[in-house]
Amino acid sequence: MTTLKHTLYVVATPIGNRDDLSGRAIKTLKECHCIYAEDTRHSRPLLQYHGIDTPVRSLHEHNEAGRADAIVEQLQTEGSVAIISDAGTPLISDPGYRIVRACQDADIAVSPIPGASALIAALSVGGIATDRFLYAGFPPAKSQARKTWLSEFAEQSCSLVLYESPHRILASLSDIVDVFGAGREICVARELTKRFETVIRATASEALETLEADAQQQKGEFVLIVAGVADKANISVGEVELKAMLKTLLNHMPVKTAAKVASELTGTSRKVAYDIGVALNKDDAT
Ligand code: SAM
Repeated sequence: MTTLKHTLYVVATPIGNRDDLSGRAIKTLKECHCIYAEDTRHSRPLLQYHGIDTPVRSLHEHNEAGRADAIVEQLQTEGSVAIISDAGTPLISDPGYRIVRACQDADIAVSPIPGASALIAALSVGGIATDRFLYAGFPPAKSQARKTWLSEFAEQSCSLVLYESPHRILASLSDIVDVFGAGREICVARELTKRFETVIRATASEALETLEADAQQQKGEFVLIVAGVADKANISVGEVELKAMLKTLLNHMPVKTAAKVASELTGTSRKVAYDIGVALNKDDAT
């Protein structure tokens, strides 16, 4: 492969292990005219490790809009350009979107050099359904906003993939327990491809307890996967048992609360539990 002139290459870099940079990525980064990196100091050791001495300039969320015209002009007049981020695939919760669009609008070829991305790495080892998933990036930082944001996804049937920082991992897990229910199956994927790589698949409350009990487990970078409600493997009881549970609960509480408790205990959708509860109440009334 020869690096084409006047092409913007969007190059994925490792999410931890420096050897996860593909041969094609190395060749492209060596041959291009200039590399735009999110943090030049962060990327330099990786580039040096692979013998890449192409000039590096900065491209981060604060200068991306201002850089777009200059990068387009550079591509038109000088040669090919590569963009990389600190880790993984650019544009995935990282800068690059404005540059890609500016190049497309200027009829400049944009070509991917695919490689690592934390969300795909996590899905590949999480043991939670991967046939349909929704990647939603980082949850909001404040708890009330986070709970409202999470509840938008609580009844969906596909897996939900989130990124989280070590500062907020416990708070986010706690909100996941509240919003999705203690029994919802989740995966906590930490420090993937690095020395302290850990993958935990458990119910939301078990995962929270595991992290709360061990400060080491709260450190590093995290991907969270929350199973969808229609993931059959995630529902721990059949309909007969669910009905029996709801019948007992309805003797002690209103249908809304009974549905919430049954959903938390079994991982069944709150709406499904509520609909069954309403039907049971009607049966009793007739
Ligand atoms: N562009 C990157 C990608 O393709 O995955 C994501 C960039 S985003 C700013 C950084 C977040 O990705 C981290 O806060 C963490 O949630 C997740 N992440 C990155 N590397 C990771 C790793 N080795 N293990 C687990 N999560 C990781």
